Amino acid sequence: MGSENDKKPTSPNFGYKLIFLGTGTGKFARGKQLRATGGIILQFEENQFHIDPGPGAVVRAMQANVNLRANTGILISHSHIGHCNDVNAVIDAMTYSGLDKQGVLISTNNVINGSESHAPYLTKFHRDCLEKVIVIEPGQRVGVNEIEIKALYAKHTESSTIGFRIMTPNFVLVYSSDTEYSAKLIEEYKGANILILNTHSPGEEYTPGNLNTLNATKIIEKVNPKLAIIQHFSKRMLEMDPIQEAREIQSKTKSQVLAAKDGMALNPLIYGMKTRQQTLTKDY
Ligand SMILES: [Zn+2]
Repeated sequence: MGSENDKKPTSPNFGYKLIFLGTGTGKFARGKQLRATGGIILQFEENQFHIDPGPGAVVRAMQANVNLRANTGILISHSHIGHCNDVNAVIDAMTYSGLDKQGVLISTNNVINGSESHAPYLTKFHRDCLEKVIVIEPGQRVGVNEIEIKALYAKHTESSTIGFRIMTPNFVLVYSSDTEYSAKLIEEYKGANILILNTHSPGEEYTPGNLNTLNATKIIEKVNPKLAIIQHFSKRMLEMDPIQEAREIQSKTKSQVLAAKDGMALNPLIYGMKTRQQTLTKDY
């Protein structure tokens, strides 16, 4: 169906990439797009996961040269607009409006089926465009090809929010989603090579259901990932400069700490437990 351009890319186009299609949150940063809100892309060999496609996800994907037709999975942590608003637009793009029924959506019951107070974000039409739709709760695991995905505990204002632990053969990536600090998070994130923390507020500023720099420092210190990435910044955080906040965290922990920027891309293999490059190097 469609032209050559609509075809899914074949494996030579795939690599190992983590791409930020958005790093902003809150009514000001999101509403004025002070930072984009398109979510995060993880490419691992033939898999492409789109995590939390918020407003503008399709546009931001195009700007970052991400082909949404290559999405094999969409992971959505909760039903707040910044995380799931573009779920239908992304499914439409990845399935060519249902002509190529494919992919899996892994999310909470609130996003997929809705609740008494919320209609589901996912439309019936777009649900049918997918090969599979999976409702997941904290502690549950799902396998997608060679990758295992576990839903993690989160303490957020949307009570069914989950984080994700994505276990590949080469590295473990944890995405906190929106959560307040809790000692339970340390257990959930243990063993992560790459830890993405939604760090809403600067310093010690408290916003219900969200992390600040102080909380992020505490978590990173205890989890000790090779790489910690702070992102999902409010207007307040942007005013205080996330790069400065990241530097401060890095000075207090043993981890490398980055403040994500819109469009930032990195190779997650570098931070894995056993990279293929390292394996190659050993042969010499
Ligand atoms: Zn939220």
